Amino acid sequence: MADFIPLSVPNFGPREAELAGQAITSGWVSTSGARVAEFEQAIAAYLGMPRAVAANSGSSALHLAAMAAGIRPGDEVLVPTLTFIAAVNPLTRYVGAEPVFIGCDDTLCIDPDAVEDFCANRCTLRGGRLYNNRTGAHVAALEAVHVFGAMADIPRLSDIARRYGLVFIEDATEALGTRYTAGPLAGRCAGTMGDLGCYSFNGNKIVTTGAGGMLVSNHDDWAGHAKHLSTQAKADELQFVHDEVGYNYRMTNVQASLGLAQLARLEEFIAVKKARYDRYRAALDGVRGLRILPFDEENTRPNYWFFSLYLKNSGLDRDTVIRALQAQDIQTRPVWALVHEQADYPKNEAYALDKARDYRANIVNLPCSTNLSEADCDRVIRAVLAL
Ligand SMILES: *Cc1c(COP(=O)(O)O)cnc(C)c1O
Repeated sequence: MADFIPLSVPNFGPREAELAGQAITSGWVSTSGARVAEFEQAIAAYLGMPRAVAANSGSSALHLAAMAAGIRPGDEVLVPTLTFIAAVNPLTRYVGAEPVFIGCDDTLCIDPDAVEDFCANRCTLRGGRLYNNRTGAHVAALEAVHVFGAMADIPRLSDIARRYGLVFIEDATEALGTRYTAGPLAGRCAGTMGDLGCYSFNGNKIVTTGAGGMLVSNHDDWAGHAKHLSTQAKADELQFVHDEVGYNYRMTNVQASLGLAQLARLEEFIAVKKARYDRYRAALDGVRGLRILPFDEENTRPNYWFFSLYLKNSGLDRDTVIRALQAQDIQTRPVWALVHEQADYPKNEAYALDKARDYRANIVNLPCSTNLSEADCDRVIRAVLAL
């Protein structure tokens, strides 16, 4: 019986064990300890940002972002519908706001044309604030998710955000390491170009601490406020005085130790991801109507986090493919159910959905772990070609 090939699993080596072991042996296993600050500094340095704020998950980093941005109850936030639900809940319902859902373009990221159309034709700008004509609500923010490690169209989206007075939040939870290589933003990393950016170190992400997250901001006081909120909003260390409602969103010293070891391997991980992506492309793209969806390799260096097999013109059905591969111990998955169709959001507006629906129906994500061997990659390819 062939081994099980998982979709995306952690890749931990001796250095991860060594650093986590040191944290355990030292007794600094909880949220105090030097490694958290060290990991924050290492991420900030990697991203070229002055500081980064650690959190215990990407979801909590996004919740901190929403609070630091001042998104208020009753506000609306423009969000993509083709994404994981944790990109939406923390920016909206966690702070009493409502999402307006927007479809995607061919990068799978939020469609700038549709965002512009919504702001220009369905809203009114008054005193520098945008109001939704239909609901009367203040539209406070715009979120871009860098889906599967592909860069969203930052120049256009940040221009729209600026013109309509929207806070621009980047969900870069899947895109640590993705950056522009050409144009005016060359060298800038996904997550560092908006008002706020969030990262995740969940078990399936390219760099993992088991669970964890990070926040960066181009407003130093927002980053500081996020840190304060993540540490119970304690205003006085000794006297336990708290000046607002805070959260226990801190990362532990053990997680940060794992993160330091993992971050040192990020470029190695991206190189493996790219090699496997190239291998899938060479064998499957254009064969029998199959496609491996492209990343923009002209203007960006993506992190190649997830690979998308696109079935539209192949005559193959998504769920049949997933089941057939599962029967051969190969784990794949569909793209997320669209968030505007999830239980909590039936009444929310949703626009420009055609492409999101098409990609939802026709994408299967292939195994992409950074410890996926060439032989296992070839086994997946053979299994797909035999469908
Ligand atoms: C993983 C992920 C999150 C949440 O991160 P967690 O660390 O799992 O809380 C949010 N948004 C997107 C798009 C993600 O993929």
